[in-house]
Amino acid sequence: MLACVIHEAKGLKIENRPEPQPQEGEVLIRFGAGGICGSDLHYYHEGRVGDFALREPMVLGHEVAGEVVVLGSNVRKIQVGQRVAVNPTRACMRCDYCLSGRSNLCRNVRFFGSAARFPHVQGAFAELFTASEQQCVPIPQSLSYRVAACAEPLAVTLHAVSRGGKVLGRRVLVTGAGPIGVLVVAAARLAGAAEIVVTDLFDEALAVAERMGATRVVNVKSASSELEAFAKEGGRFDVAIEVSGNPRALQNCIDATRPGGRIVQVGLLAAANSDVAVNKITAKELELVGTFRFHEEFQWAVDGLVARRIDVDPILSREFTFSEAISAFELASDRRKAMKVSLVAQN
Ligand code: ZN
Repeated sequence: MLACVIHEAKGLKIENRPEPQPQEGEVLIRFGAGGICGSDLHYYHEGRVGDFALREPMVLGHEVAGEVVVLGSNVRKIQVGQRVAVNPTRACMRCDYCLSGRSNLCRNVRFFGSAARFPHVQGAFAELFTASEQQCVPIPQSLSYRVAACAEPLAVTLHAVSRGGKVLGRRVLVTGAGPIGVLVVAAARLAGAAEIVVTDLFDEALAVAERMGATRVVNVKSASSELEAFAKEGGRFDVAIEVSGNPRALQNCIDATRPGGRIVQVGLLAAANSDVAVNKITAKELELVGTFRFHEEFQWAVDGLVARRIDVDPILSREFTFSEAISAFELASDRRKAMKVSLVAQN
């Protein structure tokens, strides 16, 4: 079977690998579709994501959906032929965080296509891959694999918005209009935000944010005066969600959030120290909170996609087969041309 294996920065190879065998409680899944994520792109370009560097070849991919084709022993709820969206998180469900309902902070988590542990957890950009039964969420015929694969990034944004606290009727600022940023827009709209303003450096990305429900978009490259207006009288927004990972965007959030408001940091800042005006956080009594992956929100995301409460069509760019994966990764790296690029099964 074919798999997309990253060996080092720029060293992505489409390799033949042996078929995996499902263990107890696991199923074998035939790949249907998968989305290329920002972290896949970091491994592709830099051979690392933040502190996690590649130490051995690793199959990429964690936004996937497919069809169950073989059951391991003791699988109870899933049948052969079932279409599933796959939660890439395998939490231990035994540690203190798992037991207190915060399995996204699990001490022993295994996450598809991540070099955080060694040996690395292999990803799911492979024609066949295994997952535990608990990772599989059944989906109906009506939901395409491409859309189902969006459940993962959507779950990230549902969690991020819930970390923002009360959003109903509030003014929300979203900095960064990549795939996560524009899905934050959809999640904030679902949560009842009155106003959703999105900033980015690219008009193409901002156009997608508008289609996802932004009430206003601002290109910070060409309209810095609008940012100044947001900061007047202590700040316009109740909640700011910083997705870009750019320290200047975080600074903009600190300036534009009203005293007593909350900032949710979603994007990972580059490792280098950034000059963030912490004193303003103090003086404005801002709350600055992190957000990491998701837990129960994965099921919510699938439900929202099935019921069409969230339409991800505006974010879907081109699709490629495994043999075209390098073209797919190159296109996904061009923010002017692509939002969410998908790999699909080879027919
Ligand atoms: Zn755990």
